[in-house]
Amino acid sequence: MSQKRLVSGIQPTGKMHLGNYLGAVSNWVHLQDEYESYFLVVDLHSLTTVYEDPERLRQDKLDLAIDILAAGVDPAKCALFHQSDVPEHSELHLYLSMITPLQWLMRVPTYKGKIEEIKGKDLDTYGFLGYPVLMAADILLYKAQVVPVGQDQLPHLELAREIARRFNSLYKKPVFPMIEEKLTQYPVLPGLDGRKMSKSYQNTIPVSATPDEMQKLVMSMLTDPNRKRRTDPGNPYICPVFAYHKIYNSPTRQEEVSVGCQTAEIGCVDCKKECASLLIDSLGSFRARRAELMKDTSQVSAILTKGAEKARNITTQTIREVKQQIGL
Ligand code: SF4
Repeated sequence: MSQKRLVSGIQPTGKMHLGNYLGAVSNWVHLQDEYESYFLVVDLHSLTTVYEDPERLRQDKLDLAIDILAAGVDPAKCALFHQSDVPEHSELHLYLSMITPLQWLMRVPTYKGKIEEIKGKDLDTYGFLGYPVLMAADILLYKAQVVPVGQDQLPHLELAREIARRFNSLYKKPVFPMIEEKLTQYPVLPGLDGRKMSKSYQNTIPVSATPDEMQKLVMSMLTDPNRKRRTDPGNPYICPVFAYHKIYNSPTRQEEVSVGCQTAEIGCVDCKKECASLLIDSLGSFRARRAELMKDTSQVSAILTKGAEKARNITTQTIREVKQQIGL
């Protein structure tokens, strides 16, 4: 039986952090066995916010591809590529932008949210408002049946469905199939300051950090703010460090840490040291694969080129069909 086709992307806006790793990329490692998978480093999306720094974008997109491969995404099982190496993404984005009402974009909840979140950038641009159309193009171009999404991305997926329905109805042909969402349940990791881990908050733990750097970052993490002295009992359920224990530690040890914190038997320094060592160990094979890839990054470029070629076998056909329908 043929596999269903799946598309998913990740934006290169700095080093991949633990939140990206757990939320998207480690999931891809499982999905690549189950679906005909197309994984995109969505560099065109980065241009919606990082358009003024070409050198940084060049570096970020290569770093991210290396991290994805080091995480275990296998080019023999999927296509991994840079979005901009498949020019049909930009082309379909343009065609879809012609039929997308402005109000649909204005009401996307993440639009206002992101403007609030990303400070110090002029995001009052045509491209930034239109990024959900680019996202729709990313999915529809492959006629993907399955798209893995987190709860917060559901409005984007719904918009992609609305655009597909509008296109199919305007041109009286079911060019784009309906998309199935694959809701991904993943643990939400707090950042160093307790807020959601995000590059915009500068509170991330990069997966490519060395063990020493990782140890320092974990030791700098916020804890229960009411636990001022070593002898004060703490509340692990409001402590970001304990959120890591819940993911990386065994259930028995989690219970011991929780009780130890609430009775002040464990101090925060020891608790953080244990957390850091769990994290460092869990990324051992990632670091080894990454070091191997870093010896010759031309292999990574070759993988990306091959991935884009595989993608274009599909995207050029879709564009041909779309152009015929719209009269070009
Ligand atoms: S002992 Fe651990 S869980 Fe408790 S407040 Fe300190 S760092 Fe957090």
